[in-house]
Amino acid sequence: MWDIDDEPPKPGEPMEVAPGVAMLLAPNADAWTFEGTNTWLVAGPDGAALIDPGPDDPAHLAAIDALAHDYGVRITDVLLSHHHGDHAHATEEVARRWQATISPRVHRGVIAEGTTVRLGGRVEVRAHRTPGHTADGVSFAVPAERLMLTGDTVLARVNPFISHPDGTIGDILASMQRLGTLVDDDWTMLPGHGPMVRNSRSFLEQKLSARHRRIDQIAALLERGAPRESLTDIVYTSLDRTRRNAARASVDAILHYLDSRPVPGKRGGTQ
Ligand SMILES: [Zn+2]
Repeated sequence: MWDIDDEPPKPGEPMEVAPGVAMLLAPNADAWTFEGTNTWLVAGPDGAALIDPGPDDPAHLAAIDALAHDYGVRITDVLLSHHHGDHAHATEEVARRWQATISPRVHRGVIAEGTTVRLGGRVEVRAHRTPGHTADGVSFAVPAERLMLTGDTVLARVNPFISHPDGTIGDILASMQRLGTLVDDDWTMLPGHGPMVRNSRSFLEQKLSARHRRIDQIAALLERGAPRESLTDIVYTSLDRTRRNAARASVDAILHYLDSRPVPGKRGGTQ
């Protein structure tokens, strides 16, 4: 396991988190991807699902191939948590190499709720719609091992960035609540970036209250007449340029959420 205080694994060196379930860190670290994208392999007796193939990078593709060979399985299914390039760029190439099925096709719709990929024995991967970071967000449960692969819907150290207007606060709140009904504290969440999350249900409850506190904070600032343009700097102090853009998008997402919330005494609510 990669816990929050651990050194990150090295790109290209697989980390097994449960029997048949392994992670490969992609060599694409930057301000947006943190240590890089987490690519996941779930192997069963009849095949393997690769979740979030990551960047189209020769070393990463070779590491994926080597991992499947180590397990002695064929990659039969390529699954995507969402369409962002750091998760999806290698999709076509992996599918081509292994003649695997891609679900869903990038930019061509979202996998249906409850879609289940069966990999033999008790091993299956079940898709759950979790929009919010983006509109097409999906999490994947591996019930036999009590694992939930969350893509960028849940991260261990930071609140995931809301890719507004594609992602919305209303969606992320609903998705976190939904995940809380699917996992328990004996489940582990496996995010698309960074360390893993134990005690999943409690973690989601804490993060959900933190989101609500931030929304209430911004609503209170607006009520006191704070200018909208200055909210990012009031709420988030000491941000570098890249993270500031992300913070700004998150503030915009909260403003959109507050604007579209029905206001008592006002007709309509959307401006
Ligand atoms: Zn993303």
